[in-house]
Amino acid sequence: MESAIDIQAETFVRDLAAAIVAPREGECLACYLDRVLRDAPCDGSLRLSRTYRDARAPRAVALEDRLQDGGGFCDCEVLMNVYWSKTDEVKPCHGARRGSTKPCDLWYRRTRGDRW
Ligand SMILES: [Zn+2]
Ligand SMILES: [Zn+2]
Repeated sequence: MESAIDIQAETFVRDLAAAIVAPREGECLACYLDRVLRDAPCDGSLRLSRTYRDARAPRAVALEDRLQDGGGFCDCEVLMNVYWSKTDEVKPCHGARRGSTKPCDLWYRRTRGDRW
């Protein structure tokens, strides 16, 4: 049987992990990915983008298609291929509307064929 302390510790660790990957109020997708990927390595999927979508814009069902269309097949590729920051320092987020997956104006979306 688990003691109350064990349960508390378990809950704490789980809450901590959840707090890192939880999108913050008003935080846009790109700033969210930029922040979380500093603490949690990309796992090669769009897991964080999906977490963001589910939490903030559950109706944006085409998000993954749009990201993959721009070359973002995993979370870190979204920041390498799809959205580029306009400045080196992208904090604090300029804010995103709830229900929208559009990044704030610290980011721009690369257009197709814009390769170096
Ligand atoms: Zn990646
Ligand atoms: Zn932002």
